[in-house]
Amino acid sequence: MAMSYPEWIWQNGQIKPWNEATVHVMAHALHYGSSVFEGIRSYKTPNGGAIFRLTDHLKRLYMSAKVYDIEIPYTLDELTDACRETVKKNDLVQAYLRPVAFRGLGGFGLAAECPTDVAVAVWPMGPYLGEEALASGIDACVSSWQRFAPNTIPAGAKAGGNYLSGQLIAREARRLGFGEGIALANTGLLSEGAGENLFLVFDGQLHTSPASASILAGLTRHSLITLARDNGIEVIERDLPREYLYLADEVLMCGTAAEITPLRSVDGKPVGEGKPGPVTKRLQELFFGLFDGTTEDRWGWLESL
Ligand code: PMP
Repeated sequence: MAMSYPEWIWQNGQIKPWNEATVHVMAHALHYGSSVFEGIRSYKTPNGGAIFRLTDHLKRLYMSAKVYDIEIPYTLDELTDACRETVKKNDLVQAYLRPVAFRGLGGFGLAAECPTDVAVAVWPMGPYLGEEALASGIDACVSSWQRFAPNTIPAGAKAGGNYLSGQLIAREARRLGFGEGIALANTGLLSEGAGENLFLVFDGQLHTSPASASILAGLTRHSLITLARDNGIEVIERDLPREYLYLADEVLMCGTAAEITPLRSVDGKPVGEGKPGPVTKRLQELFFGLFDGTTEDRWGWLESL
């Protein structure tokens, strides 16, 4: 099926037609993965459209860029405006926003000084893994691919090149008939999903892998930790061995795209009773409540469109 694209895109300071937002085949990022990017969602709320944690996402973009010495030639305010403008120009409310900054056309060597190109694309997006995934959960598997080790490729920076690992994990899982893949860190301990963080529930407590387990410390992860603690659910960041996936009462994945997706099985073994459990459902209620007004946004996470 031919894909349909939105009409407008923001590129290097200008809104332009989608088809005109092109790059040169010798752009550095295309060869060496030298891009940093974000994934952000905007939601419809009773008070109008809101971009969820827009400022925090863009701050992470600058942090990722700092790790790779990618100079972003726009201020946070300018990129914030660019994100809002691109959503509005495309007449969207519920959308996925993709700011990206990358080394463009300059020299050809690894350490070449190249100008930074910046773009913001947006497109309509419902649940990433499907409505059914949010309601009933998905079947996941532990990937045969490990996450990159600390001090190899920095997992905490959201860079294009990292997603070679994500692609191996996600594509292997889909090829084998699973909804998503979970990676172990080089230590053999649980890391995260191909593009999602992981939470396990034991006796009503939430357990999640620490930053040292080669994860991207997601903003959804942070939002869930905050919402859980605020509602009397204990959260523990700790090393998690693989077998805990099979022993947990509940397992869920979270991320901007996946939102809060329960796992109903891992490696063919049912998680708990094989359906979303009470803690997962409560977290879904609290998280999605931010957008229908039933959870008070006490943190200023909803930034108006
Ligand atoms: N881990 C990886 C590898 C990801 O790509 C993502 C998605 N950005 C996440 C975790 C979740 O991060 P966030 O909640 O900030 O979207």
